[in-house]
Amino acid sequence: VLVIGGGLIGCAAAWRLASAGADVLLVETTEINVGASGRNAGSLHFQIERRFLEQDAARASEAAPVVALNALAIDDWRRLPGELGADIGLSMMGGLMIAETPAEVALLEAKTRLEEQNGLQSRLLDGGETLALAPYLSRAICAASYAPDEGHADPKRVTPALAAAARASGALLHERTCVVSVRSVAGGFRVGLTTAGESWHIETASLLIAAGAWTPRVAMLADLHIPLFPVGLTMSVSERVAAFIPHLVQHVGRRLSLKQARAGNVLIGGGWPSRLGRRLDGGFDPGERPELLQPSLLANLRAAVDVVPAIADLNLIRSWTATTCISADQLPIAGEVPRKPGLFVVGGGSAFTLGPTLARLVADAMLGRTDPKLAIVSPARFEHLNSFMGAA
Ligand SMILES: Cc1cc2nc3c(=O)[nH]c(=O)nc-3n(C[C@H](O)[C@H](O)[C@H](O)COP(=O)(O)OP(=O)(O)OC[C@H]3O[C@@H](n4cnc5c(N)ncnc54)[C@H](O)[C@@H]3O)c2cc1C
Repeated sequence: VLVIGGGLIGCAAAWRLASAGADVLLVETTEINVGASGRNAGSLHFQIERRFLEQDAARASEAAPVVALNALAIDDWRRLPGELGADIGLSMMGGLMIAETPAEVALLEAKTRLEEQNGLQSRLLDGGETLALAPYLSRAICAASYAPDEGHADPKRVTPALAAAARASGALLHERTCVVSVRSVAGGFRVGLTTAGESWHIETASLLIAAGAWTPRVAMLADLHIPLFPVGLTMSVSERVAAFIPHLVQHVGRRLSLKQARAGNVLIGGGWPSRLGRRLDGGFDPGERPELLQPSLLANLRAAVDVVPAIADLNLIRSWTATTCISADQLPIAGEVPRKPGLFVVGGGSAFTLGPTLARLVADAMLGRTDPKLAIVSPARFEHLNSFMGAA
C-alpha cells in the first residue's frame, strides 16, 4: 500500500495498515506533521459543528448523521494514548457550546435534538447550570449544550506518535519524497516519485491519498477531481497561566473555540479566515503560509474576551495561520473512489477530531472490510464530477 501524505491521516492509516500486516510505504513531500495536522487548534469536538448550523435547517439535518462517526471518534481518542504508548496531551473533560441570545438558544435546542436522533449524547444546560459548571464564563451566557467527552489533544504530539507507531509496526516512512505521477496499470498503479531530485517509481495495488489541502492536486495526477477546497485559518495563543478552563469552549452563534493547554496557555481559534498563500507568479500554494488578517484576529479575540472575560488580562504571545481544506458539502471525503478500484482518499473537514477514526475505517476498507458508517462521507457522492475526466 502506498500512503501519500505524512499528516495525521496518512500516519494513522499507515499504522493501522502495517499493524494488520500490510506492506506499507508512506511518502511525505516535506516532513511528518508540517501540514494542518501540526498547526491546528487541537479541538476534539463531537457536537454538530456550528458551520453546519449556520446554514439552513435542511443542511444541518443532512450533515447530522456524521455524528455517528463522531461517536466512534470518542472511543478512538480514549484508546489512543494506550494503543500508542505515548503522551499525546489528551484531555477529554467535556465541552460546552454556548449561547448568548434567545435565537442562539433555539439553535442549540435544534442541534441537541438532531444529535439525539443520531445517537450522540449532549445535554442542554440553562444559564445557571452553565455558570455552575464553568464559572470562568461571562454572566452573559444564557445556555450551553454540554458533551461530556469533548476536549483536546496536542497537535505537536499526536502525529509524531502515530508516525512512530507506524514505523514500529513495520511501515516505511519516506520524508522529502513527493508523488509526481500516478498511472493506472494492470493490477494497480504506477506511481512516480522524487526524492532529493532523484526520480523513481513503484507499482502498488492500492493507494491512499491523504495529502490534506494538496489532495485535489494529487488526485488530478490520477485523473480525478476530488472537491476539497483550501482554506486559511487563524489561531492565537496566550501566555501560560494557572489552570482555570478545564473544558473545550465553543459558541453556537459566533466563530470561537477555546481551551487551555496542559502547560497553561489558552488557545483561541474557531474558524476565522486568513488569506491563502500566494506564489510570486500569482498561483496559490498550500505550502505557503496564509496572510494573517487583522479583522479576523481582532474579531476572534473579541469573541474570546466576551465569553471568558479573564482572557482580557492575558498577554497574547503568538498568532499564526495555517491551511486546511473543506469539501463541497463540508463533510469529510473518505473511502474508495468508485471509478478507480484500489484508490482511496481521506481528507477535509475537522480531520483532527475525526482523523484517527477515518484513517482506521479506510484502512479497514483497504483490507476488504467496509463499515457502512463510511457511506455518508464516501467520495461516491462526487463521482459525477469525474464523468468528463479522461484516464490514462
Ligand atoms: C488553524 C487550523 C485549526 C484547525 N483546528 C482543528 C480542530 O481544532 N479540530 C479539528 O478536528 N480539525 C482542525 N483543523 C483541521 C485539521 O487540522 C485537518 O483536517 C487535519 O490536520 C488534516 O490532516 P491531513 O493528514 O489530512 O492533512 P495534513 O496534515 O495537511 O497533511 C497532508 C500532508 O500531505 C503532504 N503532501 C502533499 N502533497 C504531497 C505529495 N504530492 N507527495 C507526498 N506528500 C504530499 C503534505 O506535505 C502534508 O504534510 C484545523 C486546521 C487548521 C489549519
